[in-house]
Amino acid sequence: MKYAIISDIHSNLEAFKTVLKKIENLAVDQIICLGDIVGYGPSPNECVEIVRENNITCILGNHDRAACGMIDPVYFNPIAKQAVLWTRKNISQDNSQFLRNLPTTIEYDNFLVLHGAISDPDKYLINISDTEEEFPLLADQKIGFFGHTHIQTYFTYLGGVITQSKNSEAVVKDRAKYLINPGSVGQPRDRDPRASLLVYEVDRDKKRLTYKRVDYDIGATQKKIFEADLNPSLAQRLSYGY
Ligand code: ZN
Repeated sequence: MKYAIISDIHSNLEAFKTVLKKIENLAVDQIICLGDIVGYGPSPNECVEIVRENNITCILGNHDRAACGMIDPVYFNPIAKQAVLWTRKNISQDNSQFLRNLPTTIEYDNFLVLHGAISDPDKYLINISDTEEEFPLLADQKIGFFGHTHIQTYFTYLGGVITQSKNSEAVVKDRAKYLINPGSVGQPRDRDPRASLLVYEVDRDKKRLTYKRVDYDIGATQKKIFEADLNPSLAQRLSYGY
């Protein structure tokens, strides 16, 4: 099996389309999205519709929950909150309903799919210390794919020790547990503005992770953000990947 794992599209149509084109050439069996299809960006309907039309397996992110009215964005920063309210106003009822019906997590035979953390869907797993209470919660599934931080990285738990890596390739060891973030499609925050995705390959004798980064037309997305009257900082940060 070959999976493309993506996350945090955030209504960035140009990044999303470019990533899907890349995935097309990779001949994967399944695409899995770890949530936050919408929020921040100017194209919520287009992005949700692509997910629906392509039958992309997807879970619910915190921005999705806020955009479809399942939660109020009380803990969001002012700019994120503004973007949530903009998205609520601009998303179609049908697409909003689609978001409401998404699951919060999905359990596969040998991996778990989540947005934030296992203990709390809103928790950010940024540093090793953030993952300490998460690894014991990974039981049968030794791998958890998560998003939310918009940072391409993975944590390994082996022999009681947790390490963090930003390598772009890795062979998955059967003795270890992993928490793996594919990075963000539509709003990377690891100082690399290119859209991020992850390929997870499961062969009979080997499991392998390969990260990919792709350039997309950032200027086109920025123009739409300005035209939509979203906060201009949401456009500027795309240039820096932060
Ligand atoms: Zn996000």
